[in-house]
Amino acid sequence: MTDTLTPVLTDNWDAERAWTMAAYEERGGYAALDKAFAMGPDAVITAVKDSGLRGRGGAGFPTGMKWGFIPQDNPRPKYLVVNADESEPGTCKDIPLMMATPHTLVEGVIVSSYAIRANTAFIYVRGEVLHVVRRLQRAVQEAYLAGHLGKNIHGSGYDLDLIVHAGAGAYICGEETALLEGLEGRRGQPRLRPPFPAVAGLYASPTVINNVESIASVPAILTEGAAWFASMGTEKSQGHGIFSLSGHITRPGQYEAPLGITLRQLIDLAGGMREGHELKFWTPGGSSTPLLTPEHLDVPLDFESVGAAGSMLGTRALQLFDETTCVVRAVLRWTEFYKHESCGKCTPCREGTWWLTQTLARLEKGQGTEEDLDLLLDQCDNILGRSFCALGDGATSPISSSIQHFRDEYLAHLTHGGCPFDPAASTAFV
Ligand code: NAD
Ligand code: SF4
Repeated sequence: MTDTLTPVLTDNWDAERAWTMAAYEERGGYAALDKAFAMGPDAVITAVKDSGLRGRGGAGFPTGMKWGFIPQDNPRPKYLVVNADESEPGTCKDIPLMMATPHTLVEGVIVSSYAIRANTAFIYVRGEVLHVVRRLQRAVQEAYLAGHLGKNIHGSGYDLDLIVHAGAGAYICGEETALLEGLEGRRGQPRLRPPFPAVAGLYASPTVINNVESIASVPAILTEGAAWFASMGTEKSQGHGIFSLSGHITRPGQYEAPLGITLRQLIDLAGGMREGHELKFWTPGGSSTPLLTPEHLDVPLDFESVGAAGSMLGTRALQLFDETTCVVRAVLRWTEFYKHESCGKCTPCREGTWWLTQTLARLEKGQGTEEDLDLLLDQCDNILGRSFCALGDGATSPISSSIQHFRDEYLAHLTHGGCPFDPAASTAFV
């Protein structure tokens, strides 16, 4: 089974002092820069388009197409902003990537900024992970000293400054326009789109915002070729990606594989579910993607197939729960998170997430009624599609999908007069 893994971004993670410039260059690091300068910016954009790379932050928007939206006749400065505000529950791929090999991201930033003709780039890092901020700052310092950043990089005539910016620890700042507000020094709340950032982003200038893994994928696309990347994955979801397995699995961790691998294959690679237990439910891409069940074990993990199964590939944060886990309690915990992180800008999400937690908590304690299930679905209906940004929509996903798949378990809380599960048996939500 190991031949289904394609370690590219994760290949170097266990090497000694992999985070240093010396270790990165020893393994061919920064070779993509000279290749990019020889190709010219437009050819770099074409290569990324041809590779089929789609945004790895969850939405899967084609990266090369996004770069192509930057209006080059606009006289304002262009910016590249890396969204490193990884916070979706279960999502844990970008932080280890930046810790293990920060220079992969720095090189990706330089090539990508060159392609869109930006002379200033930012990496917006989640505020809580100070160790990552420090590691990135050190990598950026090394890159300046080696002449990979700053004026006239590699004698190409191209200048780039890269700034590492720490957020203040709000989930909403992972939403790209709230992130821009934060970067500009204001309270992090989403802006109306359109205009999309590609047209009017940071300081009202054309701005590309990409996820860490998307940008870190760019150097290998240049050195190995767009055709190499496009040869992996499925017809519409090309390339490889990092799948983060957590929960009741024998060997949790990061598994880099072509898109289209199945959860069944990944569970085998990770040594199976914890001994003596069986999979009950799972999230394909963090808690804002609808829950799936064992009947979906053979769904190819690509954007189209997961969508057809009623969920979303999202960030490939595969959280696995066995039969000891109470789904109602799990969903309540996630909903409390969304209520806490709602930025309060729009009523459906601000008020709705509060009402969702009230109703769910009542049901979880066995104090609700069967009508509360319909009430929950009605509350979801009043949030979904009526919220200002994706946070409100995402908050409804675990609720409506869990009622769809586990209605009987909700009802069991009512007949039992509380949670029928033994909290000591599960390690999921202690
Ligand atoms: P989206 O589909 O609205 O946009 C995706 C990207 O494409 C954005 O950069 C957007 O600017 C761009 N885009 C879309 N249409 C465009 C157009 N017509 N012109 C120019 N650019 C265009 O998705 P979103 O709201 O940005 O993100 C939602 C996703 O974020 C969810 O799918 C979820 O999986 C993910 N998410 C990730 C995390 C995390 O920690 N990584 C956290 C929460 C949510
Ligand atoms: Fe803020 Fe929630 Fe509305 Fe998004 S959906 S703008 S997070 S209140």
